[in-house]
Amino acid sequence: MEKHEFQTEVSQLLDIIVHSLYSQREIFIRELISNASDALDKMKYLTLTDDAFKSISFEPRIDIEFDEENNETLTIRDNGIGMNREDLIEQLGTIAKSGTKSFLSQLSGDAKKDSNLIGQFGVGFYSAFMVAEQVEVVSRKAGEEQGWRWRSDGKGGYEIEEAKCETQGTEVTVYLSDEGKEFANRWKVEQVVKKYSDHIAFPIYLHYEKKEYDDSGKEKGSTPTVEQLNSASALWKRPKSELSQEDYNEFYKAIAHDTDDPLLHLHTHAEGTLEYSTLFFVPKRAPFDLYHADYRPGVKLYVKRVFITDDEKELMPTYLRFVRGVIDSEDLPLNVSREILQHNRVLANIRQASVKKILGEFERLAKDEPETYTEFIEQYNRPLKEGLYGDFANRETLLELVRFKSTKADGWVSLAEYKERMQPDQKAIYYITGGEEHTLRNSPLLEAYRKKDLEVLIMDDEIDEMVVPMIGTYAELELKPINRSEVGEDIKDEADKEKAEELKPVVERIKTALGERVKDVRVSARLDESPSCIVLDENDPSMKMQELMRAMGQTEMPEVKPILEVNPSHPIVEALKSHSDDGVVEDVAFLLLDQALLVEGAPVKDPADFVKRMNKILAKAV
Ligand code: ADP
Ligand code: MG
Repeated sequence: MEKHEFQTEVSQLLDIIVHSLYSQREIFIRELISNASDALDKMKYLTLTDDAFKSISFEPRIDIEFDEENNETLTIRDNGIGMNREDLIEQLGTIAKSGTKSFLSQLSGDAKKDSNLIGQFGVGFYSAFMVAEQVEVVSRKAGEEQGWRWRSDGKGGYEIEEAKCETQGTEVTVYLSDEGKEFANRWKVEQVVKKYSDHIAFPIYLHYEKKEYDDSGKEKGSTPTVEQLNSASALWKRPKSELSQEDYNEFYKAIAHDTDDPLLHLHTHAEGTLEYSTLFFVPKRAPFDLYHADYRPGVKLYVKRVFITDDEKELMPTYLRFVRGVIDSEDLPLNVSREILQHNRVLANIRQASVKKILGEFERLAKDEPETYTEFIEQYNRPLKEGLYGDFANRETLLELVRFKSTKADGWVSLAEYKERMQPDQKAIYYITGGEEHTLRNSPLLEAYRKKDLEVLIMDDEIDEMVVPMIGTYAELELKPINRSEVGEDIKDEADKEKAEELKPVVERIKTALGERVKDVRVSARLDESPSCIVLDENDPSMKMQELMRAMGQTEMPEVKPILEVNPSHPIVEALKSHSDDGVVEDVAFLLLDQALLVEGAPVKDPADFVKRMNKILAKAV
């Protein structure tokens, strides 16, 4: 007998599972059945594609037995692919998946939050330790002679020794702790299997003693009975009319490892040139790994009901990576390799049609169920914007789906709504980017737009700055940023030119004073209450963008200087016209620049200098 230690991460995970999931103990049955089903999928695949296994007779099944006398054990057995010694060490003693590691690093220590995360993630085999004093796995790998026994109490390590096994497959025996005793019960097992595992495509049999009673109700004996618990049909293949909302919800929870119902489902049977079924779901909450580069794809591929892969990112465009579900094709060969999958016409067609369907469903949701759509947007607005960046074919639809914040409405606004509300002769759609929502909403750049009652979209999402310039136009209206040097058509005024002419000498003096700090100083046409603001030259990256680029390692980037605009109607600026003291003009010039930076949420370049100049001016004023 060999003794092994668990990898540190396994011990950590075990600790969390046992301590934060106790309210959902029953899911260990779901997890063990799901593993058995995976093993059967792999075995079935072998028998269909590998010559060495084609001749064997294979009737996939899952069997559950329990100790009725003393409630001490529960056993789940499958005749699937099995595990050899190396597999047992690899699969049950370490955490190989990078997803699990990043999951562990996200744990907050708050039991309630963590159990949600675990729910989303799927706890797997180790969940058995919630109800076990000891877990024993006896397994023989398909194509090998030797069987192996793995045993652990889930504390520090595990033991492995040789074992006798008649056929390939795996038998997991859970030695139940006091908390687990309730699961050594016919009704309990039946209830849990129906709840979580009805959709499993292989029959699940429960073995129990059927009691017999005489007329007076006294027990007169029992017969060993085997009963199939699940309907064992691929749910996605069944006609929609046969399925209830409940059926869909339970199926979703099982495949997505979620505790919540999905936000929506979309079930399609396609016939014609291509024959396939798809069943897609959108989770209520965005998957925890939505923004991880190594996210787990959510769509599984089946061919004629045979599971092919759940690790193929190409089944969906990246921006729809939050979609969960199944694609089952009748037209693909069973032994499709990864390379073939990625360049396969059939699959490309299914994918294209599926994306259209899914986006169409989002449009329907926006129209018919605005409240649910808001929930959806709170979670997935950002991936949809990514779509604008990458999915040119569906650009028009995506433009109708994305939402923005606005100066004219609470909550989320669509471009269509904006257009609807526009002034009769308005020439463009205006937006502001480059900071937090609060900063943007209070930006002096908005003043003239507010005064003219022009709506401005508040784009506070980092991704907006990359995506929105790419949009260019919506319904032939240009999308115009208001923090650029060129002023929007709609706020230009005939009087501006005159004022600019009149203020020329002042502007020159400010420019001389500020020197290298600014790219230019101009008379503003967009200010109302504030004395000054900064804007960017048409093609310069914004402050936020510069920050981002630096964070991404572009340290060599030349400093981008702002353009300072001054408000010709503001008393401070007016007073400068007749001021003879160059020192005062210089102090005011610096203060005008620094305050404009401050309201944009940008750092003041030299705080000590700023305070000194301010105090000089204050002393004069007091
Ligand atoms: P997951 O199922 O998400 O991979 P689990 O913790 O449930 O994670 O299982 C870990 C691994 O152990 C599986 O990926 C599989 O390789 C192996 N395994 C578990 N149960 C079985 C089984 N009944 N038959 C074959 N392999 C199994
Ligand atoms: Mg599993």
